[in-house]
Amino acid sequence: MAHVYQNYLGGEWIAAASGRTFEDVNPADRGDVLGGFPRSDATDVDRAVQAAQEGFARWRRVPAPRRAEVVLRAGQILRQRKEELGRLMTREMGKVLAEALGDVQEGIDTAEYMAGEGRRLFGVHAPCELPQKFGVAIRVPVGVVAAITPWNFPLAIPTWKILPALVCGNAVVFKPAEDTPLLATRLVEILAEAGLPGGVLNMVQGFGEEAGSALVRHPGVNLVSFTGSTEVGRRVATVCAQEGKKVSLEMGGKNAIVVMDDAQLDLAVDGAVWGGFGTSGQRCTAASRVIVHEAVAGAFTDRFVERVRRLRLGPGLEPTTDVGPVINARQLERIHQYTEVGRREGARVLTGGEPATEGALARGFFYRPTVFVEVEPKMRIAREEIFGPSVAVLRARSLEDAIEIANATPYGLSSAIYTRDIDRAFRAIEALATGITYVNASTIGAEVQFPFGGVRQTGNGHREGGWTALDIMTEWKTVYIDYSGRLQRAQIDV
Ligand code: NAD
Repeated sequence: MAHVYQNYLGGEWIAAASGRTFEDVNPADRGDVLGGFPRSDATDVDRAVQAAQEGFARWRRVPAPRRAEVVLRAGQILRQRKEELGRLMTREMGKVLAEALGDVQEGIDTAEYMAGEGRRLFGVHAPCELPQKFGVAIRVPVGVVAAITPWNFPLAIPTWKILPALVCGNAVVFKPAEDTPLLATRLVEILAEAGLPGGVLNMVQGFGEEAGSALVRHPGVNLVSFTGSTEVGRRVATVCAQEGKKVSLEMGGKNAIVVMDDAQLDLAVDGAVWGGFGTSGQRCTAASRVIVHEAVAGAFTDRFVERVRRLRLGPGLEPTTDVGPVINARQLERIHQYTEVGRREGARVLTGGEPATEGALARGFFYRPTVFVEVEPKMRIAREEIFGPSVAVLRARSLEDAIEIANATPYGLSSAIYTRDIDRAFRAIEALATGITYVNASTIGAEVQFPFGGVRQTGNGHREGGWTALDIMTEWKTVYIDYSGRLQRAQIDV
């Protein structure tokens, strides 16, 4: 019998009110159960929000530099336990160990960066038009923040939300993804160990339709910070609009690498392999399309496919593994359905195109790294997010044509161009409709001190990461102080 974990409410570990649990399974070996977790519902969410409201009343009065000390200590503990957490992450969600360690590192980086904000959280001063009047805009916390996260970055994404929320003086109710509840538990334990008072961070485990949806609807939640699919994000936003809540959304992507005829081809192949198959293609910034200038399309595709064929599938803890499993059986099936859709639409599979079931792989959810050619921009596999190890190669006649193809999806998260021509690079930076553009690097590789997010159906105008995260986690309050001792009327007494 696997260990049964609990929710974290008001500083205590508590089972779901219903007593129900769900299992957390290793995607590389479905017989390996990491534990049972509370299947929370509206009752648990209500307790969590109440605890957060109480926590908020106290935490907002703690000076920001003191709040930040807790976050910095949590970063130090993460650093001490990096290896152990990385291994656990590989076991829980499948990504290869080097990437899991990178995920933990991103949490450490975020802690260090956000701890610095405890002594900044800059406001703005501007001169007033009236004499003896002082004006300043300051940041104040939003209140109770609901942090709803996906499974693909089990530690990094929760830290992007929770750590800035805490430094800014908010209380949090964290609803992690149902596929990665254990890493979420570890993060909460670490923040408690770092000295976070009870009630300031609460966690309810469970499914989106139950715990997630109850949290979004709860009237005591002031801000919903959501990362996940566009479909669910849209539903979350609809509820928030009806309830009049602040909402920040980070959603899907269909990111493209453009390879021009003057590109360093080997570098572009490296970028396409890493962007397409890193994390088994399960990154919101994954390069699921490569748009190649027709003059080099043949040469690029030959080298690319040759490299993809050599990728070794396996459990992420084995040092020989290049590509780990996908997250679960549902996702494995969805990826394969897209392969069938692509075939029916007339695209050709050059390698992969099926689940891998030989030997020990049959125990997990493995899909062969897949490359499609003869892909047209209007095809579903060129427009929709597959979220698996599947890359569509498209051809373009010119830079303008490539940009038009790159922009022909509803999403706008990340893009990349490989070229040695500075004019082309700048024209691409200007025209690619994405929140992030890389030049001579793949579509993945964000750093925490810069804004992260996308345009169009990827987001709703917010950016996590960097200083822009503070705009999500605070409200602006404008303060006027009139020390003239008389009535002064703005715009009138000039
Ligand atoms: P998902 O939308 O299925 O779930 C995300 C979270 O929302 C989970 O915690 C889930 O339980 C919860 N949820 C589901 N239904 C809900 C509801 N009705 N109300 C409230 N919460 C609900 O996404 P996923 O499969 O976990 O993650 C993959 C998706 O996340 C991909 O589309 C990927 O592109 C996206 N993603 C985006 C970013 C980004 O920053 N733009 C980063 C990582 C992942």
